[in-house]
Amino acid sequence: MSDYKDYNDKDPSEEQSDEKKETRKGDASTTANAGKSDNSAYEDVCFICRRPESKAGKMFKLPNNICICNDCMHKTMETVSQFDYQGMLNNPNFQKEMDDIAKKNGFPNISIVNLADLRGDGGIPNKQKLKRKKEKEDGKSEEPVLDIKKIPPPHKIKASLDEYVVGQEHAKKVISVAVYNHYKRVATGTMDEIEIEKSNILMIGPTGSGKTYLVKTLAKLLDVPLAIADATSLTEAGYIGDDIESVVSKLLAAADNDVEKTEQGIIFIDEIDKIAKKKNTTSRDVSGESVQQGMLKLLEGAEIEVPVGANSKNAMVPLATVNTRNILFICGGAFPDLEQIIKERLTRTTSMGFGAELKDKYDKDKDILSKVTVEDIRKFGMIPEFLGRLPIICTLQGLTREMMVKILKEPKNAILKQYQKLLELDEVKLEFTDDALEAIADKAMERDTGARALRSIIEEFMLDIMYEIPKDDNIGRVTITGDYIRGTGGPLIDIRSNLVTGRLEDLKTYS
Ligand code: ADP
Repeated sequence: MSDYKDYNDKDPSEEQSDEKKETRKGDASTTANAGKSDNSAYEDVCFICRRPESKAGKMFKLPNNICICNDCMHKTMETVSQFDYQGMLNNPNFQKEMDDIAKKNGFPNISIVNLADLRGDGGIPNKQKLKRKKEKEDGKSEEPVLDIKKIPPPHKIKASLDEYVVGQEHAKKVISVAVYNHYKRVATGTMDEIEIEKSNILMIGPTGSGKTYLVKTLAKLLDVPLAIADATSLTEAGYIGDDIESVVSKLLAAADNDVEKTEQGIIFIDEIDKIAKKKNTTSRDVSGESVQQGMLKLLEGAEIEVPVGANSKNAMVPLATVNTRNILFICGGAFPDLEQIIKERLTRTTSMGFGAELKDKYDKDKDILSKVTVEDIRKFGMIPEFLGRLPIICTLQGLTREMMVKILKEPKNAILKQYQKLLELDEVKLEFTDDALEAIADKAMERDTGARALRSIIEEFMLDIMYEIPKDDNIGRVTITGDYIRGTGGPLIDIRSNLVTGRLEDLKTYS
């Protein structure tokens, strides 16, 4: 795994504790008026209509840090003035009449205010507030978030990716150019009258070949927010599952509720092949073709109203408007059976009597995926409008044994380096023989889940080592051998004092 902040995988327990912290902070502010500076980075939000200050204008500040916008204050006054106090005393339909008046005045449909929401922070946690736009100092224009001069050229982007991602040369090249062009387009807005089209990317490659990893690395290098969503959880709006627009909401959260930053982020939608058109279905395809259709406007660029700090829109959540025009969408999927479709096409178009021979040739072609065309993907079940909005297609290869060995030791945050660092803290040197690395790669190849298998294999045999080593202060070096991985021997242990090489008897061997 990577060693940088994962924007997407925020632990829900963390969120909870955040909220708790906020509550505590809020409590404190009611008594000691503390914690105010923390809130100043966030805009005030109207307690009634939930619009932020930037939309609703200056707020009336009421006790308990409750803010009400000018409009709502006026409406409230109007509602109160129309109210028949005398009648109320005798009228059993009081609540209904109250609702009718509120509706007539254009109030949102909130009839009961939840008193639990009336906390010291105005009932709205920071999680649900938008970041204030940074104010310009002394009229000087502010530096853009992404300065065109600072966007590294494609070869530099690729060189940085090389430090982390092994192989996949073509994919890295395609992505570097696409990303460079995308951010150039973002930085310039338009170039004369020629508007540069958006370069969303479709990434095809077997599971565990590094699709997600590539995107995560990219987002980290560019220092832009990243949201990773799973297409399988998306459904057409109104059905059980995540609404398509929730991916933008995720990105907003990853950007710390900063709309400006959000609009320049990257959204990675994984398992895109799972929303292919379902064949032979009579029921409504709410998680397949409809999702593809629902994503069209998002991919192209649209103003989307997203809930701040929540997954679903409801009356109690403030909304922010995010324009997806400059958000880079990358869709990734394994597309099983796509190879078959490509092979069929190739044999059909080239065979003139020697079909069988050609089929054989393509069957052996390991890099068949790179010959994919839009037509093949359409045949797989993606609708043409959807594919039209993902103009850049890049393919990743399945990992070979050699690539696996490299992945183990070469990337900046390679798994072996991580374990070596861990043991270094105990002042123990951890080494792997070449034979051991190959044995690990062999095992991973058997599992057929790409590089993902590597970590689980290493975890398995490192468990004993991590358990036994801290017991004995004399151990200075542990060498993992191929025999140990294959279960036919033990690791080599060097004792610190006299560095006598020998096997530690009480160290259990892997079985
Ligand atoms: P997928 O293609 O299914 O999205 P991932 O990107 O999640 O696969 O890969 C799983 C893990 O395998 C990553 O976290 C990364 O550590 C490792 N990995 C996969 N491919 C590569 C690669 N080409 N170079 C370095 N590490 C890789």
